[in-house]
Amino acid sequence: MRNKTLRLVLGDQLNINHSWWSDDPCSFTVLMAETRSETGYVKHHIQKVTAFFLAMRKFAEALEKKDIEVIYLKLDDPRNQQSIGVNIKSLIEGGAYSKWAYQLPDEYRLDKELRDLTNALQIPCEVYDSEHFLSGRKDLAKHFEGKKTYVMESFYRMMRRKHEVLIVDSEPAGHHWNFDKENRKPIPEKMHIPPPKVFHRSVSEITDLLVRMEVETIGRIDTENFIWPVTREESLEMLDYFIENLLYTFGNYQDGMLKEHWSLYHSRISFVLNVKLIHPMEVIRKVEVAWRMSKGDVPIASAEGFIRQILGWREYMRGVYWAQMPKYATLNYFGHSRKLPSWFWTGETQMECMRSAINQSLDHSYAHHIQRLMVTGNFALMAGIDPDQIDTWYLGIYLDAIEWVEITNTRGMSQYADGGLVATKPYVSTANYIDKMSNYCQGCYYNKNLKVGEKSCPFNALYWDFYDRNKTKLEDNARIGFVYPTLNKMKKESLTAILEQAKKHLDNIENL
Ligand code: FAD
Ligand code: SF4
Repeated sequence: MRNKTLRLVLGDQLNINHSWWSDDPCSFTVLMAETRSETGYVKHHIQKVTAFFLAMRKFAEALEKKDIEVIYLKLDDPRNQQSIGVNIKSLIEGGAYSKWAYQLPDEYRLDKELRDLTNALQIPCEVYDSEHFLSGRKDLAKHFEGKKTYVMESFYRMMRRKHEVLIVDSEPAGHHWNFDKENRKPIPEKMHIPPPKVFHRSVSEITDLLVRMEVETIGRIDTENFIWPVTREESLEMLDYFIENLLYTFGNYQDGMLKEHWSLYHSRISFVLNVKLIHPMEVIRKVEVAWRMSKGDVPIASAEGFIRQILGWREYMRGVYWAQMPKYATLNYFGHSRKLPSWFWTGETQMECMRSAINQSLDHSYAHHIQRLMVTGNFALMAGIDPDQIDTWYLGIYLDAIEWVEITNTRGMSQYADGGLVATKPYVSTANYIDKMSNYCQGCYYNKNLKVGEKSCPFNALYWDFYDRNKTKLEDNARIGFVYPTLNKMKKESLTAILEQAKKHLDNIENL
């Protein structure tokens, strides 16, 4: 008994193919715990907490089927000390283990906590790679050593070559590395949109537990019909559904938005990827094979556009995180400090785009990339909201939100709070872009064509206000192109009227 190892498995380390699981099951015991420290560091969406707990419970069952001993501490287990570190400490102090071990966590906060714990405990600790990512924690920092900006495309091409993904005769498939220009089409009317792939399961045992334990959550849930995949089998089903039904149109329409459809052509596998139920390389290879076998039915722009998100953006964001933390969490390039309007938590706004994106997020704990970037993120950036409050919102509301991938997307890509390390320009727009890419403006209380007046679309005045107030920080950015020449040519009265309108919108932000 005394020479057993205690192995910690975190809620986002549910990889049944990890090399750990081929070791002799008699040599170790696994600890998994639902803790207040994890449910409480921000207010999470109720579907997010439910998905994590369910996936963890199912994973523990899968380990037990392999004859692995698991100490699983439910949230209300009397032995549960409600913190990962304290749980480990008290088990080790019980004297049953000669060693303990963990896989490298993805979050800076937990990484530090586990390192501190190792120093405090009296028994040896072994640290293992999580065997999940396709690049090492420090690979991106090495790739961009000495550079002021981290251009994703250069990292992505290196990753394509390194892993031989979509390479034909040593050249990029389709003769281009990137088909991004073909990935920006609005969704035509009458386009067939397959129904979202959903699962049906009662989760009242978990939601009752959350109520009983007074865990504060946000968002809505149908406790008799929980839709998200939480096992490896369901994750693979979700991926296969995407490849069979959605991949061929994903490329063209991944940036489109429709108020009647929340899922569109997206895969919705970010949660199961982030908790490691599926491996990024198995997703990439399946998509690559589907493209090769389809003989043209799956366009290269779709396959490449999808693979770029996982092999490119996902790995890139992780590299940025480990290159930049902990200072990244404090960056605020524009010095923004406005409070997040309370309707971000309720969806009660008259701006149809914001109303739809927020309500969908409250209903499903999901919004796709362009809704996060060009609707909610766009508004928050132009309105000058404090990045800490924006991070808290994004980290809480989305099922897939884990700090390494949330903060780099939110503070970096969406809020430009890193001054352009990740994004080459701020992602802001007037109603024009939103109207082109969605049907939100149809039937909105505000008028997409007006810049001033009570019913003028807030995005229009806020856009020019944002660029006007940040002139010294942005004017030299060549990627911004036409903005400053247009602003400089604007008649003084027109600009004054727009800036006054922006001020009225901001003064009235709670009632927009
Ligand atoms: P799809 O559109 O089907 O794309 C496939 C996969 O590519 C995703 O599952 C995801 O794993 C990966 N991917 C796509 N874009 C990105 C990206 N920019 N960064 C990293 N991976 C990407 N993603 C998260 O996983 N967690 C987050 O907390 C998160 N927060 C975000 C916050 C903001 C402000 C923005 C703009 C984006 C954020 N993203 C986040 C990235 C992206 O929006 C989600 O990964 C995507 O919407 C998940 O839906 P999907 O699985 O249907 O993705
Ligand atoms: Fe959004 Fe403005 Fe369009 Fe209304 S008019 S949906 S506020 S962009």
